[in-house]
Amino acid sequence: MHTPQNRRRRQLLKACAALAVIPVIGVPGEAMAAKNAAMRASLKYQDTPMGDKQCSNCMQFIPGKTPTALGGCKLYPGDTEIAPKGYCVAWVKKP
Ligand code: SF4
Repeated sequence: MHTPQNRRRRQLLKACAALAVIPVIGVPGEAMAAKNAAMRASLKYQDTPMGDKQCSNCMQFIPGKTPTALGGCKLYPGDTEIAPKGYCVAWVKKP
């Protein structure tokens, strides 16, 4: 039977199901990652080291959650994909 109460209950269940899906669609993990293309180009960033010079031993590096995870750089605002083994011309040895 399609009583008004049953119809309302089904509509409420659909609305709850839709709300439960929103956080999954709205904040996917990968969407948080970002690259600062302008800074990468101007400082000649590369994902590979230059000899023994690499981001993980640069004083500007902001480490990720693990030693091999992508991190950030104090000179690259908004960039969350700096590789520990990356390098750019602004490299300065970590003291
Ligand atoms: Fe890496 Fe360059 Fe930032 Fe140093 S300044 S952490 S080398 S991107």
